[in-house]
Amino acid sequence: MRIVYDELYTHHLRGIPHPERPERVQYIAASLQEAGKLEQLVTPSDALDEDILRVHTPAYLETVKREIAALRAHAAYLSTGDTVLDYTSLDVARRAAGGALAAVDACIEHNEAVFALLRPPGHHAEPDRGMGFCVFNNAAIAARAFLARYGGRVLIVDFDYHHGNGTQRVAGNGISYVSTHAYPAYPGTGGPAENYFVGDDAVANIPLTMHDFGSEAFVALWERILPAVAARVRPNLLVVSAGFDYIAGDIVGDLNVAPAVATDLARLINRIAADHSNGRVAYVLEGGYDLNGLAESVMRISEAVDAREVAVSGAAETAIPEPQRLLLEEWA
Ligand SMILES: [Zn+2]
Repeated sequence: MRIVYDELYTHHLRGIPHPERPERVQYIAASLQEAGKLEQLVTPSDALDEDILRVHTPAYLETVKREIAALRAHAAYLSTGDTVLDYTSLDVARRAAGGALAAVDACIEHNEAVFALLRPPGHHAEPDRGMGFCVFNNAAIAARAFLARYGGRVLIVDFDYHHGNGTQRVAGNGISYVSTHAYPAYPGTGGPAENYFVGDDAVANIPLTMHDFGSEAFVALWERILPAVAARVRPNLLVVSAGFDYIAGDIVGDLNVAPAVATDLARLINRIAADHSNGRVAYVLEGGYDLNGLAESVMRISEAVDAREVAVSGAAETAIPEPQRLLLEEWA
């Protein structure tokens, strides 16, 4: 599997105690390297202002530039939300958005899935405010760049523990969004009343219980919601907001889901991409704070992509709790 990675991704929040730390991508990259899975490395460029401004407002971009320029040795919160910044953060965030753009370019060139191993994450970043450890919405920036160039429809698939409030805000006009997330956990959005299907654009939220959702229910749910939403949207590209804080024991999230489900998710996404997007999938790292869980998950995705695995898991529909099964019916 082609991996987008840059050493610059280890510079934001270096030496600052924070769960969203440089070791996250360092550890995944080292694990992939050790397994011989980092040979097809894609080097990203910086996202330009024009790329960022397809999603974010000029005023917000200026705020980010101004506040980071004022930092020297100390770190500080971004004024718009709970994102800690240091003097490197603009450079790293620009290249993180550039990493998502590079993943889209590479998956189009090769008609296969590509993983962008980047940070800071992006799915909480709204057009006019960064929050939730996010500066720029990498997945949305990549989706908008694709649409600007090729038109069509992009489906953003978000299995992070948290709701991608930022991505939902920019959905519409060619971007659709499907998400499972603990609810009402941070950021508090993503209830079913926010769902819609208008024209070809869908927002499909399936809120989950806060903890202990379980592996079989998680896989069974995704194996049903993703094909249903994809059949409606008919996406030309999949962008995956790949957050692994659903894993049991994660210090920020934790849905009591095993790391092994990454194999089932990757096989499912392989099937949907084969059916709809000519194999094109851009995975973009979001959350996930357990180093072993992160490394195992990305390794499993890499293996499933390399072996072009498409097997269905066999997770039973009856494993899905009643409230989520009722929400599925809206999309059947
Ligand atoms: Zn998260």
